Amino acid sequence: MKTPIYLDYQATTPTDERVLAEMLPYFTEVYGNAASRSHPFGWQAEEAVDKARAEIAELIGASAKEMVFTSGSTEAINLALKGAVDMYGDVEPKPGKIGGKHIITSLVEHKAVLDTCKHLEKEGCQVTYLTPDETGRVTVEQVTEAMRDDTLVVALIWGNNEIGTLNPIREIGELCHERNVLFFVDGTQAVGKIPVNVEADNIDLMCISAHKLYGPKGVGALYVRRRKPRVRLVSQIDGGGHERGMRSGTLNVTSIVGLGAACRIAGEELETEMQRTSELRDRLEEKIRAGLDMVHLNGNREFRLPGCLNLSFSYVEGESLLMGINNHLAVSSGSACTSASLEPSHVLRAMGVGDDLAHSSIRFGIGRKTTAEEVDFAATRIIETVTRLRELSPLYEMALEGIDISSVEWAGH
Ligand SMILES: *Cc1c(COP(=O)(O)O)cnc(C)c1O
Repeated sequence: MKTPIYLDYQATTPTDERVLAEMLPYFTEVYGNAASRSHPFGWQAEEAVDKARAEIAELIGASAKEMVFTSGSTEAINLALKGAVDMYGDVEPKPGKIGGKHIITSLVEHKAVLDTCKHLEKEGCQVTYLTPDETGRVTVEQVTEAMRDDTLVVALIWGNNEIGTLNPIREIGELCHERNVLFFVDGTQAVGKIPVNVEADNIDLMCISAHKLYGPKGVGALYVRRRKPRVRLVSQIDGGGHERGMRSGTLNVTSIVGLGAACRIAGEELETEMQRTSELRDRLEEKIRAGLDMVHLNGNREFRLPGCLNLSFSYVEGESLLMGINNHLAVSSGSACTSASLEPSHVLRAMGVGDDLAHSSIRFGIGRKTTAEEVDFAATRIIETVTRLRELSPLYEMALEGIDISSVEWAGH
């Protein structure tokens, strides 16, 4: 077993060898520009792009014409939200019509959504940020209550990248369609990990990123519904009018081939991988709990991604915990202490997790390459490190003796 062990599959995934093998010829042999209509080099590239488009569409129940290639989810999110506001923001809100400048989103979105919403607020949009429940979930009732006559779009994450919680997308989508409100879904963590069908799930716009599903970095796609309703977007990048005028720029054929292959393989292995990764996730939690008390699950036990486990450890200091394990385990923490700020994760904060527990939270991402042996090794390292840190903690001692720490009056306070 090679260490450190990679348990950060929500941050990114390795490109699957099968995906890479399909990509390679497009660097050197089939190098035409997919927009070159006058010779076979261009035709072959276009054919490869068409195949990829169909493979991606197939995974999410869309039609190939509804896929717009981008550089990843961040760009797709920007195109979806800014493009919709530019297209419909000044349309007078009327029943039965898409229009208005009100956006509904949540506090547990990825920064790409939150920062895009902040930008749109500066441009005259009004944004409602829903607070999720303590498991990180938004409810249909909350969205219903937040809806206004001028609501243009509801933008919600499907599978949360920090805690793995799944939102009730199908039900919220149904509500949006009843009210003629666009429904944008950040599907980055969900697509290829759980069943997704844009028709059954009532989605109008959805972003996908290849590097989160065993494809290459720097490529993704935006699903844009073509009927019921036909969604139109104003492009944010102008140029040669590629991608039905929504996203100009020479197509990155090699990466698009990779995204297509990644989607096809993810679809073929969806059921078995869901089963395998969720078993490993549960095994990891059980092993850790068998060796440690006062462990908290951040997330929802029922509605969650198969390969994501976020735990907080009482009475350990976040930075010491990470320092203690990061020679062995590559994981992410709910503490942003690596960045300039010492702010805990905005997601955990929005769920009402206290700062101490947020700082001591660890996200374990389990993926295609993860083995039971690695999971057991990770559990052992976590138990060792947390036990050692707690041995140094007078607070943990007191908690074990049943002293309510919140009742203690500290000298000097
Ligand atoms: C990774 C991620 C993004 C950003 O995707 P990129 O393709 O890296 O820009 C957006 N949303 C979620 C939920 C993510 O996990």
